[in-house]
Amino acid sequence: MTTKYVFVTGGVTSSLGKGIIAASLAKLLQAQGYRTTIQKLDPYINVDPGTLNPYEHGECYVTDDGAETDLDLGHYERFLNVPTSQANNVTTGRIYQSVIEKERRGEFLGRTVQVIPHITDEIKQRVQILGNSGEYDIVITEIGGTVGDIESLPYVEAVRQLKWDLGEHNAISIHLTLIPYLSAAGELKTKPTQHSVKTLMESGVQADVLVCRTEHVLPQGLKTKIAKFCNVTEDAVIQSIDASTIYDVPNMMLEEGLDTIVLKKLDLESTIPDLTQWNEFLNRHKNPSGSVTIGLIGKYVELQDSYKSILESFIHAGAENEVKVEVESIHSEYLNDDNLKFKLGHLDGVVVAPGFGERGIEGKISAVKFVRENKIPFLGICLGMQMAVIEYARNILGLKDANSTEMNEETSHPVIDLMEEQKTITNKGGTMRLGSWDCQLVENSIASQVYGTELIKERHRHRYEFNNEYKDQIEKAGMKATGLNPDTGLVEIIEIPDHPWFVGVQYHPEYKSTVANPHPLFVAFVKAALNHSKKNNSVTMAQK
Ligand code: GLN
Repeated sequence: MTTKYVFVTGGVTSSLGKGIIAASLAKLLQAQGYRTTIQKLDPYINVDPGTLNPYEHGECYVTDDGAETDLDLGHYERFLNVPTSQANNVTTGRIYQSVIEKERRGEFLGRTVQVIPHITDEIKQRVQILGNSGEYDIVITEIGGTVGDIESLPYVEAVRQLKWDLGEHNAISIHLTLIPYLSAAGELKTKPTQHSVKTLMESGVQADVLVCRTEHVLPQGLKTKIAKFCNVTEDAVIQSIDASTIYDVPNMMLEEGLDTIVLKKLDLESTIPDLTQWNEFLNRHKNPSGSVTIGLIGKYVELQDSYKSILESFIHAGAENEVKVEVESIHSEYLNDDNLKFKLGHLDGVVVAPGFGERGIEGKISAVKFVRENKIPFLGICLGMQMAVIEYARNILGLKDANSTEMNEETSHPVIDLMEEQKTITNKGGTMRLGSWDCQLVENSIASQVYGTELIKERHRHRYEFNNEYKDQIEKAGMKATGLNPDTGLVEIIEIPDHPWFVGVQYHPEYKSTVANPHPLFVAFVKAALNHSKKNNSVTMAQK
């Protein structure tokens, strides 16, 4: 069948959850047998979000092919269990970069290069790359930002043209808006939605479906009114009420008939989606038989979005273990030897998060020492693994000023050092060790038990590495390198066998955890935390 396109725009305000609506719709379509993918178009001028601050933009998500992308792609993968790629995230920066490169190559010789048609053509081409691959029946394209923004205009124009080019039943547009509740008036208000639909129409795009975010149930009369004023059919006004978990949204959209109306407008057959596996997960997630408390130590902990994939991985791993994982965010900058016991003593497990730069690292190193000595399960991710190596070198090998050259270029013991090929790189954008790399696991290690295989592929995003000049010394002292890159010998995993569960990984397992496939490392870590909590409880009971 020819690929059909669904465009998702947003109006009234940002943060309405377009990504979750797009992912939920995709899930419902996938569960009816349609090969579905989602793409995000971001209107900012950075070529990718790799150079953006997590405070401002949340986590940077990395795909197998090494693209640094918007965190919404993480939701797409977690919902659909299908890997995304560079083609699934396009920014204005990338569009312009590509058009300007074409201009320099002389591809537009003699012509004036303009927003219309050159930029819009480039956008249209990027939208259709996934469709033209032949791999998908339906491509859902989410346009970042809010309609009416100057930055979004070329995208909305590209949507207008594509709807026209592709024809009525081949491309439709869903517009996500807000229905605010004014408590003083005790009323839900539709005016912002009317204005937002009108703004979209001024650019020549008529919304086919409206998804209305609301904190209160929309009465049928209100839906009728919205339909009438916004030129859509009544069954195309979909309520999206606040959910207690994002994983409820597919079922909520199913109940509202979002999938049915989309398929009807695309002239495709609709059936009852098979959500058996999804609902089994939800059931386990909502009915835990116990709980564990995991400390997440990082420096962006105030913002949930900065460690999005890690938090979601714990939801998947918790459901798999049928426990609730309470994640306690701990700011590494405020950790010191005096408050470690108070802040970490009660935890069933500790994760030291990925990160960049010097701020807060001494707190992370102290935390690793505490969990190592107190036998609390530990998972170090990327920078977290590097901190574990530094801590071991300082406190077990006695190399007092051991460090990463990222933090101290002058250290006499650079146990974590810049990779050789990184030393000549000066550009910051897209130049880290990125994407999926092979890793060979050492037999009888925790890693090999956890993965149940010898060769794994995991995603990376870092410049610094375990310095192999220290490998013998470190291994003799007890810490083992249990995962190695088969081609380069780079150390990807470290473990301390003389500890109940101490694992550091140079890669980011959190990018690959999905509802259908919870990541084995997180599942095993939560299990270790559960064992720790049981042991602690029985010690406390015995003391009573
Ligand atoms: N800053 C470290 C490096 O570049 C770790 C990066 C990370 O945690 N993603 O190697």
